[in-house]
Amino acid sequence: MELWYTERQTDNLGLTLRIKETLCVERTAYQELAVLDTYQYGRMLVLDGAVQITEWDEFIYHEMITHVPLCTHPAPRHVLVVGGGDGGTIRETLKHASVERADLVEIDERVIQVSRQHLPFVSRSLDDPRARVPVSDGISFVKKTRAAYDVILVDSTDPVGPAVGLFAPEFYAAVARALRRDGIFVAQCKSPYLDQGLIRQAFSHVSQVFKIPLLYTAAIPTYPSGYWCFLLGSKAHHPLQFDEPRARALETRYYSPDVHRAAFALPKFVQDSLK
Ligand code: SAM
Repeated sequence: MELWYTERQTDNLGLTLRIKETLCVERTAYQELAVLDTYQYGRMLVLDGAVQITEWDEFIYHEMITHVPLCTHPAPRHVLVVGGGDGGTIRETLKHASVERADLVEIDERVIQVSRQHLPFVSRSLDDPRARVPVSDGISFVKKTRAAYDVILVDSTDPVGPAVGLFAPEFYAAVARALRRDGIFVAQCKSPYLDQGLIRQAFSHVSQVFKIPLLYTAAIPTYPSGYWCFLLGSKAHHPLQFDEPRARALETRYYSPDVHRAAFALPKFVQDSLK
C-alpha cells in the first residue's frame, strides 16, 4: 500500500511526500509530533502538521541561521539557541572554534528525546561537552538573562502555541538585554511570499530595539514557497563586514562568503514589503 503525507501549507497549497515508514506519532504536552521516513527527502520532523526539518535540506536552514551571525561576530564565545530541539543549529554553532558554550532552551523535552532517537544527523551535537540543554520556556529564560550571550538564535516553530511570544516586541527587547554590548540576534521569520504581514511587523519591532536591523533570505525547498526569511538584529557589527577567512574555512554545503553577502540582497518586492 502507498502511504502519502500532505502538509497543508495554506488553505490552497500543500507539500505531499510518499512515506517509507512512520517512525513516531504522538501528542506531547505542547504539540503533535511525528517523525516520518520519506522516499524523497529522508527522515522528516513534523510538529503540528508543519515540516520542521528534513534530512535532505536541513543543512540550508541550519547553516544560514547560524553562520551569518557567528561569522559577523568577531569572537562568539557564548551562544543561546531558543527552540531548535532537533539539535541542527547547535551542530552548526559548535563548528566555530571560539564557541565555549552553546545553550539550547527548548520547551518540549519530547522533541529532544525523539530527535536523539530518530534524527542522529542533527541531534548528535547535543552530546558535545560545550552544549547545555535546559528544558524550559525560551521566553522566560531570556527575560531572566542579562548581558550573557554574544549571539542568540531563535530557531522556533511558527507563531502558534508556545511560540507566539517569540514574535512579540517584549521578547525582542528581552533578547537585547540578554545579549552583550556587541551582541547579535537572528530569528527564522517565515516566507517572504506568504507571510509579508508577519515579516513587516517583526522587522519593525526589531528596528526599534537594534541599531542594525536587517533581513536575509535562503532557498529552502521544503518550507512553504521554498523561499525563507531570517531576521537579524545587531548592536554593533554590520553583517556585511564579516570574517571572510573564517567563513571560508567552515565545513558547509550551502553557506559560503559569497552566499553570506548575497543573502542580504533582497528582491524588490521583499524590500517593498517592509515599508
Ligand atoms: N527549523 C524549524 C522551522 O523553522 O520550521 C524549527 C525547528 S525546532 C524543532 C522548533 C522548536 O521550537 C520546537 O521543538 C518547539 O517545541 C520549540 N519552541 C516553540 N516555542 C518555544 C518556546 N517558547 N521556548 C522554547 N522552545 C520553543
